[in-house]
Amino acid sequence: MNRDEYLERLGATAETPEDLFEHVEERSTAGRTHYVLTAARHGVERGTVIVEETETIVRGYPSIPRILVLDPGVPSFFEDGETVVVEEKLDGFNVRIAAVGGEPLAFTRSGYVCPYTTGRARDRLPLEEFFATHPEKTLCAELIGPETPYSTHDYEGIDTHEFRVFDVRDRESGEPLSVADRRRLCEEYGMSQPRLFGRAAPSDAVGPTRAVIEELDAAGREGVVLKSADGEELVKYTTETQHHEELAYAFSLPFDHGRDFVFSRIVRDAFQAAESDADDDRLEERAHDLGESILRPMVSTIRDVKEGKTVGERHTVRGDPETIGALLEHLREQSLTISLESDRREDGERVVEFVKVAESSRDRIRYYLDGGTR
Ligand code: ATP
Repeated sequence: MNRDEYLERLGATAETPEDLFEHVEERSTAGRTHYVLTAARHGVERGTVIVEETETIVRGYPSIPRILVLDPGVPSFFEDGETVVVEEKLDGFNVRIAAVGGEPLAFTRSGYVCPYTTGRARDRLPLEEFFATHPEKTLCAELIGPETPYSTHDYEGIDTHEFRVFDVRDRESGEPLSVADRRRLCEEYGMSQPRLFGRAAPSDAVGPTRAVIEELDAAGREGVVLKSADGEELVKYTTETQHHEELAYAFSLPFDHGRDFVFSRIVRDAFQAAESDADDDRLEERAHDLGESILRPMVSTIRDVKEGKTVGERHTVRGDPETIGALLEHLREQSLTISLESDRREDGERVVEFVKVAESSRDRIRYYLDGGTR
Protein backbone atom coordinates (compact mmCIF):
# COMPACT_ATOMS: atom_id res chain seq x y z
CA MET A 1 0.00 0.00 0.00
CA ASN A 2 1.34 3.40 -0.91
CA ARG A 3 0.82 5.13 2.42
CA ASP A 4 1.91 8.59 1.24
CA GLU A 5 -0.72 8.52 -1.43
CA TYR A 6 -3.48 7.43 0.97
CA LEU A 7 -2.43 10.09 3.47
CA GLU A 8 -2.88 12.68 0.77
CA ARG A 9 -6.16 11.29 -0.53
CA LEU A 10 -7.54 11.26 3.02
CA GLY A 11 -6.48 14.86 3.56
CA ALA A 12 -5.16 13.78 6.98
CA THR A 13 -3.33 16.32 9.12
CA ALA A 14 -0.72 13.71 10.19
CA GLU A 15 2.92 14.66 9.50
CA THR A 16 3.91 11.24 8.25
CA PRO A 17 1.90 8.19 7.16
CA GLU A 18 3.20 6.38 10.27
CA ASP A 19 1.43 8.92 12.51
CA LEU A 20 -1.89 7.91 10.98
CA PHE A 21 -1.26 4.30 10.13
CA GLU A 22 -0.27 3.30 13.67
CA HIS A 23 -4.03 3.57 14.37
CA VAL A 24 -4.99 1.51 11.35
CA GLU A 25 -5.94 -2.12 11.81
CA GLU A 26 -5.76 -4.76 9.07
CA ARG A 27 -8.89 -6.87 8.70
CA SER A 28 -10.04 -9.37 6.19
CA THR A 29 -13.73 -9.31 5.34
CA ALA A 30 -15.82 -10.20 2.32
CA GLY A 31 -12.72 -11.90 0.88
CA ARG A 32 -10.75 -8.65 0.80
CA THR A 33 -8.14 -6.98 2.94
CA HIS A 34 -9.38 -3.77 4.54
CA TYR A 35 -7.45 -1.22 6.54
CA VAL A 36 -9.62 0.45 9.16
CA LEU A 37 -8.99 3.51 11.29
CA THR A 38 -10.02 2.39 14.78
CA ALA A 39 -10.32 5.88 16.31
CA ALA A 40 -10.79 9.39 14.90
CA ARG A 41 -7.28 10.74 14.22
CA HIS A 42 -5.67 13.61 12.32
CA GLY A 43 -8.96 14.87 10.87
CA VAL A 44 -10.03 11.43 9.65
CA GLU A 45 -13.15 9.78 11.12
CA ARG A 46 -13.20 6.50 13.05
CA GLY A 47 -14.31 3.62 10.87
CA THR A 48 -12.70 5.00 7.71
CA VAL A 49 -11.88 2.05 5.47
CA ILE A 50 -9.23 1.59 2.80
CA VAL A 51 -9.77 -1.37 0.49
CA GLU A 52 -6.39 -1.90 -1.07
CA GLU A 53 -7.40 -4.27 -3.85
CA THR A 54 -9.75 -1.71 -5.41
CA GLU A 55 -7.93 1.35 -4.03
CA THR A 56 -11.21 2.51 -2.52
CA ILE A 57 -11.53 4.79 0.49
CA VAL A 58 -14.83 4.78 2.38
CA ARG A 59 -14.85 7.69 4.76
CA GLY A 60 -16.19 7.17 8.32
CA TYR A 61 -19.35 8.95 9.47
CA PRO A 62 -18.46 12.03 11.55
CA SER A 63 -19.25 12.25 15.22
CA ILE A 64 -22.25 14.56 15.78
CA PRO A 65 -21.85 17.04 18.65
CA ARG A 66 -24.67 17.46 21.15
CA ILE A 67 -26.17 20.55 22.72
CA LEU A 68 -27.45 20.29 26.28
CA VAL A 69 -29.68 23.39 26.16
CA LEU A 70 -31.71 24.53 23.16
CA ASP A 71 -31.35 28.16 24.11
CA PRO A 72 -28.72 29.43 23.39
CA GLY A 73 -27.42 26.05 22.11
CA VAL A 74 -29.10 26.29 18.69
CA PRO A 75 -28.34 29.94 17.82
CA SER A 76 -24.78 29.69 19.09
CA PHE A 77 -24.01 26.49 17.17
CA PHE A 78 -25.15 27.80 13.78
CA GLU A 79 -23.92 30.92 11.98
CA ASP A 80 -26.23 33.88 11.62
CA GLY A 81 -27.76 33.84 8.17
CA GLU A 82 -27.71 30.02 7.92
CA THR A 83 -30.90 27.99 7.64
CA VAL A 84 -31.41 25.24 10.18
CA VAL A 85 -33.23 22.08 9.11
CA VAL A 86 -34.86 20.02 11.87
CA GLU A 87 -34.89 16.28 11.17
CA GLU A 88 -35.86 13.37 13.36
CA LYS A 89 -33.02 11.40 14.93
CA LEU A 90 -33.89 7.74 14.76
CA ASP A 91 -32.70 5.15 17.24
CA GLY A 92 -31.10 2.36 15.31
CA PHE A 93 -27.73 1.52 13.89
CA ASN A 94 -25.50 3.62 11.64
CA VAL A 95 -24.74 1.92 8.32
CA ARG A 96 -22.64 3.23 5.44
CA ILE A 97 -23.36 1.60 2.12
CA ALA A 98 -20.78 2.07 -0.62
CA ALA A 99 -19.94 0.28 -3.84
CA VAL A 100 -16.50 -1.32 -3.60
CA GLY A 101 -15.28 -2.66 -6.92
CA GLY A 102 -18.90 -2.35 -8.10
CA GLU A 103 -20.19 -4.43 -5.20
CA PRO A 104 -22.39 -2.67 -2.59
CA LEU A 105 -21.17 -3.34 0.95
CA ALA A 106 -22.64 -2.18 4.26
CA PHE A 107 -20.08 -0.95 6.79
CA THR A 108 -20.75 -0.57 10.49
CA ARG A 109 -19.69 2.60 12.29
CA SER A 110 -16.43 0.95 13.33
CA GLY A 111 -15.65 -0.17 9.79
CA TYR A 112 -16.70 -3.82 9.72
CA VAL A 113 -18.54 -5.20 6.72
CA CYS A 114 -21.66 -6.69 8.28
CA PRO A 115 -22.91 -9.62 6.14
CA TYR A 116 -26.44 -9.35 7.51
CA THR A 117 -26.77 -5.60 6.97
CA THR A 118 -25.21 -5.93 3.51
CA GLY A 119 -27.75 -8.64 2.61
CA ARG A 120 -30.68 -6.64 3.94
CA ALA A 121 -29.54 -3.42 2.25
CA ARG A 122 -29.28 -5.24 -1.09
CA ASP A 123 -32.80 -6.60 -0.56
CA ARG A 124 -34.46 -3.42 0.56
CA LEU A 125 -32.69 -0.56 -1.21
CA PRO A 126 -32.32 -0.02 -4.97
CA LEU A 127 -28.52 -0.23 -4.70
CA GLU A 128 -27.71 -1.42 -8.21
CA GLU A 129 -29.68 1.39 -9.76
CA PHE A 130 -28.33 3.98 -7.36
CA PHE A 131 -24.64 3.05 -7.64
CA ALA A 132 -24.86 2.69 -11.43
CA THR A 133 -25.40 6.45 -11.55
CA HIS A 134 -23.64 7.47 -8.32
CA PRO A 135 -20.68 5.10 -7.89
CA GLU A 136 -18.70 7.65 -5.87
CA LYS A 137 -21.35 8.20 -3.21
CA THR A 138 -21.96 6.62 0.18
CA LEU A 139 -25.49 6.15 1.47
CA CYS A 140 -25.60 6.80 5.21
CA ALA A 141 -28.60 5.10 6.73
CA GLU A 142 -30.05 4.09 10.07
CA LEU A 143 -31.15 0.47 10.32
CA ILE A 144 -34.17 0.60 12.62
CA GLY A 145 -36.83 -1.70 14.00
CA PRO A 146 -37.24 -4.46 16.58
CA GLU A 147 -35.36 -7.08 14.56
CA THR A 148 -31.77 -6.02 13.95
CA PRO A 149 -28.56 -7.50 15.39
CA TYR A 150 -27.54 -4.19 16.98
CA SER A 151 -30.59 -2.28 18.22
CA THR A 152 -34.14 -3.09 19.22
CA HIS A 153 -36.09 0.17 19.47
CA ASP A 154 -39.69 -0.31 18.32
CA TYR A 155 -41.17 2.01 15.73
CA GLU A 156 -44.86 2.03 14.92
CA GLY A 157 -45.49 0.35 11.60
CA ILE A 158 -42.11 -1.45 11.47
CA ASP A 159 -42.51 -5.16 12.20
CA THR A 160 -38.96 -6.25 11.57
CA HIS A 161 -36.42 -3.72 10.24
CA GLU A 162 -36.07 -0.94 7.68
CA PHE A 163 -33.50 1.53 6.42
CA ARG A 164 -33.85 5.30 6.63
CA VAL A 165 -31.30 7.26 4.60
CA PHE A 166 -30.25 10.38 6.54
CA ASP A 167 -27.22 11.47 4.52
CA VAL A 168 -25.55 10.98 1.13
CA ARG A 169 -21.84 11.77 1.08
CA ASP A 170 -18.88 11.58 -1.23
CA ARG A 171 -17.35 8.18 -0.54
CA GLU A 172 -13.77 9.45 -0.30
CA SER A 173 -13.94 13.04 0.95
CA GLY A 174 -17.04 12.64 3.13
CA GLU A 175 -18.47 15.83 1.63
CA PRO A 176 -22.28 15.75 2.15
CA LEU A 177 -25.03 16.66 -0.27
CA SER A 178 -27.19 19.56 0.90
CA VAL A 179 -30.26 18.46 2.81
CA ALA A 180 -32.55 19.49 -0.08
CA ASP A 181 -30.47 17.62 -2.70
CA ARG A 182 -30.27 14.52 -0.58
CA ARG A 183 -34.00 14.50 0.11
CA ARG A 184 -34.72 14.91 -3.60
CA LEU A 185 -32.28 12.17 -4.60
CA CYS A 186 -33.68 9.71 -2.05
CA GLU A 187 -37.21 10.44 -3.21
CA GLU A 188 -36.15 9.84 -6.80
CA TYR A 189 -34.92 6.34 -5.84
CA GLY A 190 -37.81 5.64 -3.46
CA MET A 191 -35.55 5.44 -0.39
CA SER A 192 -37.21 6.33 2.95
CA GLN A 193 -35.72 9.08 5.10
CA PRO A 194 -36.20 10.42 8.62
CA ARG A 195 -39.03 12.90 9.07
CA LEU A 196 -38.28 16.54 8.30
CA PHE A 197 -40.04 18.91 10.69
CA GLY A 198 -39.14 22.26 9.19
CA ARG A 199 -36.60 24.95 8.45
CA ALA A 200 -35.87 28.20 10.30
CA ALA A 201 -33.21 30.80 10.99
CA PRO A 202 -31.04 29.75 13.98
CA SER A 203 -32.61 32.27 16.36
CA ASP A 204 -36.13 31.22 15.32
CA ALA A 205 -35.47 27.49 15.55
CA VAL A 206 -35.51 27.14 19.36
CA GLY A 207 -39.29 27.28 19.95
CA PRO A 208 -40.27 24.94 17.11
CA THR A 209 -37.50 22.47 18.10
CA ARG A 210 -38.76 22.45 21.69
CA ALA A 211 -42.29 21.70 20.43
CA VAL A 212 -40.96 18.86 18.24
CA ILE A 213 -39.02 17.41 21.18
CA GLU A 214 -42.18 17.41 23.33
CA GLU A 215 -44.08 15.62 20.59
CA LEU A 216 -41.31 13.04 20.10
CA ASP A 217 -40.96 12.52 23.84
CA ALA A 218 -44.68 11.83 24.18
CA ALA A 219 -44.37 9.27 21.37
CA GLY A 220 -41.34 7.57 23.02
CA ARG A 221 -38.98 8.61 20.20
CA GLU A 222 -35.31 9.60 20.34
CA GLY A 223 -34.85 13.24 19.32
CA VAL A 224 -33.64 15.49 16.53
CA VAL A 225 -30.58 16.26 14.46
CA LEU A 226 -30.39 19.93 13.48
CA LYS A 227 -28.57 20.47 10.20
CA SER A 228 -27.32 23.47 8.29
CA ALA A 229 -29.07 23.51 4.90
CA ASP A 230 -25.79 22.61 3.14
CA GLY A 231 -25.57 19.44 5.26
CA GLU A 232 -22.14 20.38 6.68
CA GLU A 233 -23.00 21.27 10.28
CA LEU A 234 -24.87 18.75 12.43
CA VAL A 235 -25.89 18.86 16.07
CA LYS A 236 -28.13 16.57 18.09
CA TYR A 237 -30.58 16.91 20.97
CA THR A 238 -32.57 14.09 22.55
CA THR A 239 -35.73 13.45 24.58
CA GLU A 240 -36.20 12.57 28.23
CA THR A 241 -37.63 9.20 27.19
CA GLN A 242 -34.42 8.44 25.31
CA HIS A 243 -32.19 9.37 28.25
CA HIS A 244 -34.18 7.11 30.56
CA GLU A 245 -34.30 4.29 28.02
CA GLU A 246 -30.53 4.37 27.59
CA LEU A 247 -30.01 4.46 31.35
CA ALA A 248 -32.33 1.49 31.76
CA TYR A 249 -30.35 -0.39 29.12
CA ALA A 250 -26.98 0.48 30.70
CA PHE A 251 -28.13 -0.42 34.22
CA SER A 252 -29.60 -3.69 33.02
CA LEU A 253 -25.97 -4.67 32.28
CA PRO A 254 -24.30 -2.59 34.98
CA PHE A 255 -20.76 -3.93 34.72
CA ASP A 256 -20.54 -3.89 30.92
CA HIS A 257 -20.94 -0.13 30.45
CA GLY A 258 -18.48 2.52 31.44
CA ARG A 259 -19.38 5.07 34.07
CA ASP A 260 -19.11 7.81 31.45
CA PHE A 261 -22.01 6.26 29.57
CA VAL A 262 -24.41 6.57 32.50
CA PHE A 263 -23.08 9.87 33.84
CA SER A 264 -23.46 11.56 30.44
CA ARG A 265 -27.12 10.49 30.21
CA ILE A 266 -27.87 11.85 33.70
CA VAL A 267 -26.17 15.15 32.82
CA ARG A 268 -28.27 15.43 29.63
CA ASP A 269 -31.43 14.87 31.60
CA ALA A 270 -30.48 17.39 34.29
CA PHE A 271 -29.76 20.16 31.77
CA GLN A 272 -33.01 19.48 29.98
CA ALA A 273 -34.94 19.56 33.26
CA ALA A 274 -33.20 22.77 34.32
CA GLU A 275 -34.04 24.47 31.03
CA SER A 276 -37.68 23.46 31.06
CA ASP A 277 -40.05 25.69 32.99
CA ALA A 278 -41.91 22.68 34.34
CA ASP A 279 -43.29 22.91 37.87
CA ASP A 280 -42.14 20.96 40.92
CA ASP A 281 -44.61 18.16 40.28
CA ARG A 282 -43.19 17.58 36.82
CA LEU A 283 -39.64 17.55 38.22
CA GLU A 284 -40.72 15.11 40.87
CA GLU A 285 -42.18 12.86 38.19
CA ARG A 286 -38.97 13.08 36.17
CA ALA A 287 -36.84 12.24 39.21
CA HIS A 288 -39.07 9.25 39.86
CA ASP A 289 -38.73 8.02 36.25
CA LEU A 290 -34.98 8.51 36.34
CA GLY A 291 -34.71 6.49 39.54
CA GLU A 292 -36.85 3.72 38.08
CA SER A 293 -34.70 3.51 34.98
CA ILE A 294 -31.69 2.94 37.20
CA LEU A 295 -32.98 0.63 39.90
CA ARG A 296 -35.57 -1.61 38.25
CA PRO A 297 -33.43 -2.97 35.38
CA MET A 298 -30.49 -3.60 37.69
CA VAL A 299 -32.61 -5.49 40.24
CA SER A 300 -34.15 -7.49 37.43
CA THR A 301 -30.72 -8.52 36.11
CA ILE A 302 -29.47 -9.44 39.59
CA ARG A 303 -32.51 -11.70 39.97
CA ASP A 304 -31.95 -13.20 36.52
CA VAL A 305 -28.36 -14.11 37.38
CA LYS A 306 -29.54 -15.58 40.66
CA GLU A 307 -31.97 -17.79 38.74
CA GLY A 308 -29.27 -18.84 36.29
CA LYS A 309 -30.79 -17.03 33.27
CA THR A 310 -28.63 -15.74 30.43
CA VAL A 311 -28.07 -11.99 30.72
CA GLY A 312 -27.10 -9.69 27.89
CA GLU A 313 -28.49 -7.90 24.86
CA ARG A 314 -31.34 -9.86 23.31
CA HIS A 315 -31.93 -9.65 19.56
CA THR A 316 -34.08 -11.33 16.94
CA VAL A 317 -33.01 -11.48 13.30
CA ARG A 318 -34.59 -13.00 10.24
CA GLY A 319 -33.34 -13.61 6.73
CA ASP A 320 -32.11 -16.27 4.37
CA PRO A 321 -30.35 -19.08 6.27
CA GLU A 322 -26.95 -18.35 4.71
CA THR A 323 -26.97 -14.67 5.74
CA ILE A 324 -28.09 -15.48 9.28
CA GLY A 325 -25.28 -18.05 9.55
CA ALA A 326 -22.76 -15.49 8.29
CA LEU A 327 -24.03 -12.93 10.81
CA LEU A 328 -23.62 -15.29 13.77
CA GLU A 329 -20.11 -16.13 12.59
CA HIS A 330 -19.33 -12.42 12.14
CA LEU A 331 -20.46 -11.62 15.70
CA ARG A 332 -18.44 -14.50 17.14
CA GLU A 333 -15.37 -13.34 15.21
CA GLN A 334 -15.66 -10.09 17.14
CA SER A 335 -15.14 -12.09 20.34
CA LEU A 336 -18.78 -11.79 21.39
CA THR A 337 -20.27 -14.73 23.25
CA ILE A 338 -23.53 -15.55 21.51
CA SER A 339 -26.18 -17.71 23.13
CA LEU A 340 -28.94 -18.95 20.80
CA GLU A 341 -32.32 -18.78 22.52
CA SER A 342 -34.44 -20.00 19.63
CA ASP A 343 -33.87 -20.97 16.01
CA ARG A 344 -36.81 -21.61 13.67
CA ARG A 345 -38.04 -21.31 10.05
CA GLU A 346 -40.84 -18.97 9.02
CA ASP A 347 -41.86 -18.69 5.36
CA GLY A 348 -38.50 -20.03 4.21
CA GLU A 349 -36.57 -17.57 6.40
CA ARG A 350 -34.40 -18.47 9.35
CA VAL A 351 -35.50 -16.60 12.49
CA VAL A 352 -33.03 -16.60 15.34
CA GLU A 353 -33.31 -15.11 18.79
CA PHE A 354 -29.92 -14.69 20.41
CA VAL A 355 -28.26 -13.01 23.36
CA LYS A 356 -24.93 -11.19 23.26
CA VAL A 357 -23.88 -12.49 26.64
CA ALA A 358 -22.80 -9.73 29.04
CA GLU A 359 -20.02 -11.68 30.70
CA SER A 360 -18.69 -8.91 32.96
CA SER A 361 -22.13 -8.22 34.44
CA ARG A 362 -22.91 -11.92 34.80
CA ASP A 363 -19.62 -12.74 36.50
CA ARG A 364 -19.51 -9.73 38.80
CA ILE A 365 -23.13 -10.14 39.90
CA ARG A 366 -22.55 -13.82 40.52
CA TYR A 367 -19.48 -12.98 42.62
CA TYR A 368 -21.46 -10.52 44.82
CA LEU A 369 -24.41 -12.90 45.10
CA ASP A 370 -21.99 -15.51 46.36
CA GLY A 371 -20.98 -13.09 49.12
CA GLY A 372 -17.94 -11.53 47.41
CA THR A 373 -16.72 -8.17 48.76
CA ARG A 374 -16.02 -4.89 46.96
P1 ATP B 1 -21.31 10.29 17.88
O1 ATP B 1 -22.20 10.99 16.93
O2 ATP B 1 -20.69 11.22 18.85
O3 ATP B 1 -20.33 9.37 17.24
P2 ATP B 1 -22.92 8.01 18.77
O4 ATP B 1 -22.23 7.03 17.94
O5 ATP B 1 -23.26 7.65 20.16
O6 ATP B 1 -22.21 9.43 18.84
P3 ATP B 1 -25.53 8.94 18.39
O7 ATP B 1 -25.52 9.69 19.67
O8 ATP B 1 -26.53 7.87 18.23
O9 ATP B 1 -24.18 8.36 17.96
O10 ATP B 1 -25.80 10.05 17.24
C1 ATP B 1 -25.30 10.06 15.96
C2 ATP B 1 -25.97 9.03 15.04
O11 ATP B 1 -27.36 9.28 14.90
C3 ATP B 1 -25.50 9.06 13.62
O12 ATP B 1 -24.26 8.42 13.48
C4 ATP B 1 -26.61 8.31 12.91
O13 ATP B 1 -26.34 6.94 12.89
C5 ATP B 1 -27.83 8.53 13.79
N1 ATP B 1 -28.94 9.27 13.15
C6 ATP B 1 -30.24 8.92 13.26
N2 ATP B 1 -31.03 9.77 12.60
C7 ATP B 1 -30.21 10.70 12.01
C8 ATP B 1 -30.43 11.84 11.19
N3 ATP B 1 -31.64 12.24 10.83
N4 ATP B 1 -29.34 12.54 10.79
C9 ATP B 1 -28.09 12.18 11.16
N5 ATP B 1 -27.82 11.12 11.94
C10 ATP B 1 -28.87 10.38 12.36
